[in-house]
Amino acid sequence: MAGEKYIIEGDKKVGLTVRKSENFSEWFSQVVSETGAKLVDIRYGVQGSLVHRPWAIKIARELYSLIEEAVEDDGHEPHLFPTLIPEENLMKEKEHAGFTPEVFWIESAGDQKLNRRLALRPTGETQFYPMFSLWIRSYNDLPLKTYQSRITVFRNEMTTRPFLRGREFLFFETHDAFATHIQAMKQIETDKKIMEKIIRGKLKIPFYFFKRAKWDSFLGADCTYTADTINPDGRRNQISSTHDLGKHFAEAFNITYTDVEGKKKHVWQTCFGPGMWRIMAALIAIHGDDKGLILPTSVAPYNIVIIPITFAKNPEGTKNALRFSKQLQKKIKKWGHRSHFDDSEEHPGFKYNKWELQGVPYRIEIGPREAEQKKLTIVNRITREKRIISILELKKTLPKFYEEHDKMIEKKAEEYFANNTKTAFNYEELKKILSEHRGFVKAEWCDTTMKGKPCADKLKDETQGAYVCGERLGESEKPKGSCIVCGNIARHVVYIAKSI
Ligand SMILES: [Zn+2]
Repeated sequence: MAGEKYIIEGDKKVGLTVRKSENFSEWFSQVVSETGAKLVDIRYGVQGSLVHRPWAIKIARELYSLIEEAVEDDGHEPHLFPTLIPEENLMKEKEHAGFTPEVFWIESAGDQKLNRRLALRPTGETQFYPMFSLWIRSYNDLPLKTYQSRITVFRNEMTTRPFLRGREFLFFETHDAFATHIQAMKQIETDKKIMEKIIRGKLKIPFYFFKRAKWDSFLGADCTYTADTINPDGRRNQISSTHDLGKHFAEAFNITYTDVEGKKKHVWQTCFGPGMWRIMAALIAIHGDDKGLILPTSVAPYNIVIIPITFAKNPEGTKNALRFSKQLQKKIKKWGHRSHFDDSEEHPGFKYNKWELQGVPYRIEIGPREAEQKKLTIVNRITREKRIISILELKKTLPKFYEEHDKMIEKKAEEYFANNTKTAFNYEELKKILSEHRGFVKAEWCDTTMKGKPCADKLKDETQGAYVCGERLGESEKPKGSCIVCGNIARHVVYIAKSI
């Protein structure tokens, strides 16, 4: 019966009623909800639009900071563009205009019909590039590296799910212009490195960085590169995209520069978008367990929660525990750690569950005995191992505790990711893996230009939607045989998966 596994305290229900391994989809819905880790509230009243609750915003804030720092270190400068885009700008790039079924339009203001429609931004290309054409004059203005952060974008999605697909969702994007295509390609390598450093390094989310097949590249791009990870249900989750835009937008928006010889030339462009929602989804889905979220220390809003153990029958001891907890909180903050002192009226057991649900890496318990002995009990979220130590030891060992916690997350995630990549040697085997296990399946492929599209279409039809993610960028995986679908000579090693 649903509800039986809830922890009930007073009139509050907190907890999950399903195991992650038994019903991942339901587990995910519960964990993000008000009775779970309180990340979102879907009752706002606009389909596919939701309220981000404090815990989600605090996690997103840490994530945004990490990415902003990384792109600024790489020479990008922050910008903030208006939400509205003039229709003619959105329509300027011919292929990009194919985006319009996903666009929300504003047709009137007050009781006046607008002379020209305005679009709610679905993505930033047609915002940045008209301005690029004004800002870029000579080779001295290049490269131009910009970014926009902590905004939302709007898309008319038919099916929506928190953190996976929405009509309004959290966004981040870089937009760059270069004098040469070689520089643009170097930027794509750098974008990959930023994903490796932040998403794999700090958030412990494993992924492959793919060069997508031509038939699946972004509208208006020469080529698209994506970082894809895998959900516990074996479905692919795309967590970033980088586009080699060639000169398409430069030609459409007339973005030119004068080179050293005084010749006018179009710029080469790239853009990069780590999917903030999708990264949050991966963080929740991959690391979480039956008790709730498990957050790496890099993005946990609090790495430590201090919980005083109070006793109604021991008022003196309770007073000491509260006083000692408060002192400790001050110290921990001074040492530079993100921490929280939970002095709410709830029972300690309720607080343990609450903070486990929210995925806080460590909790510190302080009762009258700890206060008297000037010691504390520290408990890890994953192992629940208890250690009794002094304040001095805590200061010294906290960095080690963090490292230990993050290593456990990393080990589990990397093992899980490796187990979710199989190799198929023939078409029957490929179909069998995709129907039973899912995950990534490595296979040999005839062609990743439009010539290979019929094979991708056939595969999609015969496997209820399996998708060719592409080849891995920077890995020299050489085919030895024939295309897994058509049997013609293979020129590529691709990864195939079902999408969320
Ligand atoms: Zn083929």
